[in-house]
Order: sequence, then structure tokens, then C-alpha cells
Amino acid sequence: MRVVLILFSLAVALALLAPLLRRLSQRPFGARVELPDELVKCLVCNTYVVKTRALSRLEDGEVRHFCSAECARRAANR
Ligand SMILES: [Zn+2]
Repeated sequence: MRVVLILFSLAVALALLAPLLRRLSQRPFGARVELPDELVKCLVCNTYVVKTRALSRLEDGEVRHFCSAECARRAANR
């Protein structure tokens, strides 16, 4: 009889802990979500470059992206 009581209380404890454990294990997974790297178009040669690698410049209140320093120079000379 005592064994049944122990097993029953264990089952109750597991049922209570399971949602908590699931929430804890999901948290690091959810925190890993990152924004995908955006692609921007070079205004001079129309090449698509990853935004973090592109040269960005603020011109006339607008952010302009260039694939290379050469393209940025060409845009400035225009
Ligand atoms: Zn370019």
C-alpha cells in the first residue's frame, strides 16, 4: 500500500514539473532566433550584398548601400 502512495505522489510531482521543465528547455531555443541577414542592392552596379558587409552612407537623408569602396566613389563622382 505504501508503494502505491509513493508511486502516486511521484506521478503527481512529474505531472506538475513536466510543463515547467518544458518551458525551461524551450527558452534557450527561442532566444537563439535571429533576424536573417538582409540583402541590399548596390546602387552603382546593381549587385546584391549582405547588409552587414555593404558600405552604407547617408545621402540626402537616405541610406545608400554600395558593394565596394569603388562603387561608393563612383556614386560620389556622379
Ligand atoms: Zn557595386
